[in-house]
Amino acid sequence: MIKHFFDLLYPPKPKCSICGRAGAEPVCNVCLASLDYLPGITCLHCGKQLNEQYGDCICPDCKTGVFYYERAFSCFEYGGMGKKLIHKLKYEGKIQLTPVIAGLMAKRIENERLEIDAIVPVPIHEKKLIARGFNQSYIIARELGERLRKPVADCLERKSETKEQYNLDRNQRVLNISGAFSVKLSYNIGKYMNILLVDDIYTTGSTVNECSKVLKRAGADKVFVITAATGSNT
Ligand SMILES: [Zn+2]
Ligand SMILES: [Zn+2]
Repeated sequence: MIKHFFDLLYPPKPKCSICGRAGAEPVCNVCLASLDYLPGITCLHCGKQLNEQYGDCICPDCKTGVFYYERAFSCFEYGGMGKKLIHKLKYEGKIQLTPVIAGLMAKRIENERLEIDAIVPVPIHEKKLIARGFNQSYIIARELGERLRKPVADCLERKSETKEQYNLDRNQRVLNISGAFSVKLSYNIGKYMNILLVDDIYTTGSTVNECSKVLKRAGADKVFVITAATGSNT
């Protein structure tokens, strides 16, 4: 209460949500410039940076796996400033960062000229939603929907509570996430031909792959994936 009173008398100066530098934007130009964008050659399937040359521009992971989505795109590497940006949103609740991330995603998608009918966020489990107060993928998807002028269909639900994926290997991740999602009964997916699936981070792709499988079984024709950040390639 007292804090609010002082905020009215002396409104806090707008500053960068990451470094604290004074400025009107949620992220200052210095922080934005230090994101590791994905220039040069990226895998034509998963969107990760290719550090070695492959004649067909497909990374080794994508050559061996079974994938249900057509292509995945990311905006920057999950490390350094990219990791900070995601953590500030996800774990410190700085939702003012949402438009920054959605803006980068919109640019990335507009460059690809994809035909999209609906945007679908990757859901989090209800318990996590209550604890965090928001699903980062959903709020990003809403901002992205406004920018791309496409409807957002929050049609997936996470049925089972899965273990955190970050300390699992590729096979464990696939098993951990298998069967975790379903399409809500109230949604008719068949009317959306092409779906853009939104998540914050792409690591091995097992989460978005499982969601894509469920969406295709429910009638989606094509599924594209956009994530803010991607882990580096194996
Ligand atoms: Zn900054
Ligand atoms: Zn790949």
